[in-house]
Amino acid sequence: DGTVFRPSNSREKLEKHLSATGGAVVTRFPPEPNGYSHLGHGKAMGMNFGFACGANGKCYLRLDDTNPEGESDEFTANIQDMVQWLGWKPFKVTYCSDYFEELYEKAVELIKRGYAYVDHQTPAEVKEYREKLLESPWRNRPIDESLELFEKMRAGAVPEGQATLRMKQDMKSNNGNMLDLVAYRIKFASHPRTKDKWCIYPTYDYSHCIVDSLENITHSLCTLEFETRRVSYYWLLDKLDMYLPYVWEYGRLNVSNNLLSKRKLKYLVDKQMVDGWDDPRLLTLAGLRRRGVPPNAINNFCRALGRTRSDNLISTDLVDHFVREELNKTAPRTMVVFQPLKVTIINFEGHEQDQVVEAKRFPDANSPTYKIPFTKTIYIERTDFREHDSKDYYGLSKGKSVLLRYAFPITCVDYICVDGEVVELLATYDPLKAIKPKGVIHWVPEAAPGTKELTVEVRLFGKLFKSEDPRLHSNWLEDFNPQSKEVINDAVALHCLKDVKCGDCFQFERKGYFVVDRDSSSRKTVFNRIVALKSSFRG
Ligand code: ATP
Ligand code: MG
Ligand code: MG
Repeated sequence: DGTVFRPSNSREKLEKHLSATGGAVVTRFPPEPNGYSHLGHGKAMGMNFGFACGANGKCYLRLDDTNPEGESDEFTANIQDMVQWLGWKPFKVTYCSDYFEELYEKAVELIKRGYAYVDHQTPAEVKEYREKLLESPWRNRPIDESLELFEKMRAGAVPEGQATLRMKQDMKSNNGNMLDLVAYRIKFASHPRTKDKWCIYPTYDYSHCIVDSLENITHSLCTLEFETRRVSYYWLLDKLDMYLPYVWEYGRLNVSNNLLSKRKLKYLVDKQMVDGWDDPRLLTLAGLRRRGVPPNAINNFCRALGRTRSDNLISTDLVDHFVREELNKTAPRTMVVFQPLKVTIINFEGHEQDQVVEAKRFPDANSPTYKIPFTKTIYIERTDFREHDSKDYYGLSKGKSVLLRYAFPITCVDYICVDGEVVELLATYDPLKAIKPKGVIHWVPEAAPGTKELTVEVRLFGKLFKSEDPRLHSNWLEDFNPQSKEVINDAVALHCLKDVKCGDCFQFERKGYFVVDRDSSSRKTVFNRIVALKSSFRG
């Protein structure tokens, strides 16, 4: 409501803080290791690392590991890997669990100051009492009793679910996040780092602000859904007489026809509805990397989003725009035919070895070139031929001409059908390039005598969810698009694609940008389509 309570930092607190930071900006990127990082985290990294970087400051990578059940070393490793992949360098990697002892001591202090109590209400009771703005019957128990019980909780002498530590905030508040939030709960769960040392774990609301203050964070940036929790953040630090970082919220990223929620992503992975956390259709950073998206494109995209507070749905088109912009500069051009249709050039004479055309790696004038043999038999895309011609069609049809990219114009003179299916075109070529057809198509030559065509697998990806904003769908799972992946097994590629390695990116002319997938073997190369080209007919 605009009038957020923010007590001032005392001169003493401020001086201590400044002597620790030297007046420089200190931020933190605080992911919970309960899933793989996604594009939204890319934005959050840009906000935190980017802001510190631009201000000559520091940014911590802090693993917010306070819910041992859903957290794992695998997730922690992925987060670190992705931070590095996007080019960010943490000042330090810390864990909330590094501070468990200090957090516990602060909780004892909070009880002693009369601002926390051990409660025994069930979650249902807590909910009901909050709705009615009623105090828990345990709220005003003696301080000593809470101290003793809290110690017992820590020692493992209280069963799970029987007690929590709650902050004594404001049960009359119209902000639900001031209604005595839980600070600690009992969980007899082994923690990836502290193992069985603890059986009580602090909540986000309790730990986050304290650790921010302990790390001398100057700007605590988080997403908008935390705005209403800012009051509690400031309240707790004030009650503990700790330095208050400046809290600022920004909009959460959402992308059309996809989801950015670790919980839902995890569901898709666990139910094997997608091929793991790095499925190229997911907007996990690992998925985007496997998809072939360059890290620069992600950072440029995130920067373009700006520091707005709006919670918009961003179109995938914007992501694609930055991907194309990057790959246009870096991905060499080549040609691959997805559904080959044989073309015999009837006026072709001479030896195959004699005929070679020169193709360009990049569109610019001084681009490096490579050689493609021009052969009597070539393959073109089946979709570049139509039995029934029309005026606005620039492909091949009987009597029509097209230009073969980097080579010659050809004219279709006839075609051969078997069982109603077109199996071969007969064409003439114009070695003098006198005719100037409007349509330009890609093609591949026949393999050299004694060798086989280079067939490759190509994977094309569509929308993972059918509706633009699957969050609004009454059942997000029903919105899942099971036909979001198409596999073409026998595309034919230029021979120069023989010795590619995982991660190499290319532009297949007219088809889009592609990356070599890690499923490739010596038997077959697998390509993922990163993104299609904007328009694809005329060269
Ligand atoms: P999720 O719902 O996917 O689990 P989260 O907010 O719980 O998201 P955290 O691991 O706690 O995930 O997030 C680490 C940081 O990244 C937080 O500061 C969080 O606000 C931010 N963040 C998470 N998702 C997004 C998003 N979609 N857009 C921008 N920032 C995000
Ligand atoms: Mg979180
Ligand atoms: Mg979460």
